[in-house]
This record gives sequence, C-alpha cells and structure tokens, in this order.
Amino acid sequence: MTKKTIRFSNASVDYYFAGGLFLLRKIIDQKNAVLITDENVFGHHQSKFKGWNTIVLKAGEEYKVQVAVDAVIEQLIEMEADRKTTLVGIGGGVITDLTGYVASIYMRGIKFGFVPTTLLALVDASIGGKNGIDVGEYKNMIGVIRQPSFILHDLIFLDTLPQNEWRNGFAEIIKHAAIKDASMFRALEENELTFYQKKKKAVCDLIQRNAMIKTKVVQDDEFESGERKLLNFGHTLGHALETQYELSHGEAISIGMTYAVSLSEQLKGFKQKERVVTLLEQYGLPTYARFNRDKVINVLRMDKKKEKDFINFILLEKVGKAVIEPILINKLYETL
Ligand code: NAD
Repeated sequence: MTKKTIRFSNASVDYYFAGGLFLLRKIIDQKNAVLITDENVFGHHQSKFKGWNTIVLKAGEEYKVQVAVDAVIEQLIEMEADRKTTLVGIGGGVITDLTGYVASIYMRGIKFGFVPTTLLALVDASIGGKNGIDVGEYKNMIGVIRQPSFILHDLIFLDTLPQNEWRNGFAEIIKHAAIKDASMFRALEENELTFYQKKKKAVCDLIQRNAMIKTKVVQDDEFESGERKLLNFGHTLGHALETQYELSHGEAISIGMTYAVSLSEQLKGFKQKERVVTLLEQYGLPTYARFNRDKVINVLRMDKKKEKDFINFILLEKVGKAVIEPILINKLYETL
C-alpha cells in the first residue's frame, strides 16, 4: 500500500493506493460510518460489508437523481446519522458522485470518503471533489465541489467488473493520455485491454499514473477556471449523446473524442487523428454514431461549459497537448 496526502485549496485528501478494504477500519470509526453502495457491488461482494451500516441503492445512471438523494437522507435520519458520521461511497462514479453530494448537504456537510470499484471511478470520478446528480437529460446539473477525506483503492473489486465497464474506464485513460501524457499514449498503443486485465501490476501502475494526472490538473485549477477544463476533452458532445441515446459514458466520450480530433484537424492543424481513432478502437470503443443534431445542439445550449453563444471546446494540438477553444454554438451545429 502507498499512502499519499494530497493538498487541495481548502482540504487535504489521503490516497491509499494498492490498499485493501480491510484498511477502512483503521481510517474511520466503524460505529460512526455509513457505507453507500449499489446492488451490483453489494451482490458480488456482500461479505465485505459485514459489520458495517450499509445503504444499498439501485444501480445505474438513471438513479443518480434527487429521488435517490431523498431516499438516502431518509435512511440516514432513521439510522440516526449525525455530524460525526462519515459516509463512504463504495462503487462506481454514480455512487461516489451521489455519496459526496449527500455528505455535502446532510446536516450542512459531513465527512465522506470513497472506495472506487470501477476502473472509471478509480482513475477519474473519485478524484477532484466534483459531486452531484443529474436532472432529466442534463448531466451533473446540480452539485458541489468538495473533497473527500480519503480515497481507498482495493483492486480486488475489479475481478467482478463487467467487460464493458473496463472499456468505459479505458476511454478516460485514453483521454488523459491524449491531453497530458504522450508517453502513456505510446504505452497504450503497444498493449491492449487483455494485457491490463491479466497483469495486476500493470493495471495498478496505470491506475496510479492516471489518478495522479487527474489530481495534478485539479490541484492546479480546482474550481475550473482554466486548466481543469482540459479534462472535458470528448465530454461536451459525449454528455449530450450519453443522455439521449443508449450509450455508456465511455462509449459516448469516445465518440466525443473522435469528433473533437476531427475539429482539431480542421481548426488546429492536428495531424494525429488516425492515431487517436485507432487507439480508441483498439480498446473496443466506438468512434461513430448516428444522432439527431437538433436534439444534441439543444442539450449543448444548456451545457455548463457554455458562455453566451460560445462553448469552450477542448481540442488537441498534438497528442499530449490540449487547448481550450471557444467555438460559436452555431458553427458547431454546422460541423456536427
Ligand atoms: P457506475 O457507477 O454506474 O458503474 C458502472 C456499472 O458497474 C454499474 O452497473 C455498477 O453497479 C457496476 N459496478 C461497479 N463496480 C463494480 C464491480 N466492482 N463489479 C461489478 N460491477 C460493478 O458508473 P461509472 O462508469 O463508474 O461512473 C460513471 C459516473 O461517474 C457518471 O455518472 C459520471 O457523471 C460520473 N463521473 C464523475 C466524475 C467526477 O469528477 N465526479 C468524473 C467522471 C465521471
């Protein structure tokens, strides 16, 4: 296990890399803790929750909504959770986003931590302090930026992760490589998904490297005035597609990244489009979808990254170097 304490503007977060769930008892007081998970994680790993107060939610993005928040709050009141209680989200990004949000509003804010159990949550969703829920088709419309007290990794959870969730995680890993780390991009080109699934050490190193890429970007710009926007590479179009079509998060942002590299080619003279598209396909991700551009543009008009008639789009100058480009929404409409 490697412990790192990461300092953000007004909180510090303990990261326990290559740890294990058994450490939870050492990090928090079991009597004053409530674990929040979903039925898939609970179903596969029930014995790990023995002895802990646990709230089990239905799984899936459609439950990352206010109704679920209300249900959790009611159960917390029933359990007599108070300001000394720590909430621990054990699950994918839906559970970590929702747990952080509930913890931020329950009794005006209580402590919380995460045990991310999907690849996506390990390398991305659990890091950076963004917590929140969806409203209808608008993703993450409501939320707060507040850091967890700790993030504890136990890669044993990955043993039960479905194949499509591995691919979703790799979409974010490829995103990190594309915007920040050309040498990791090359390493990914040399390997494939099954290599990381079989080699525990390789996936463990990859997770830490990605967690630290995201952490560094967030540390430099916690409240997203500049650099942090780079993490939205592929997400602007991706989110608009994800909420309207039967696409997972990873699939949607993979299509979003493909669109963003095409725009990068047109507007920034980016010359490595084929490399990015090939890498996405190598990790089983889609790079093309049919969609209704009027519906998509309507969602983009409500995007949090929009400023007046412009939307801040993330483009690539080269692999490993991303830039923020304000683009007129009407112009985007023409290129879609
Ligand atoms: P998820 O939480 O829905 O998990 C995906 C699926 O895997 C679910 O069905 C879940 O039940 C199941 N699962 C989780 N762990 C498992 C395990 N170990 N074994 C078997 N099944 C398991 O989705 P996700 O892809 O982890 O996260 C996506 C969410 O994260 C989105 O809501 C997105 O908005 C959010 N997100 C947040 C941030 C952030 O900065 N806060 C960043 C990226 C994504």
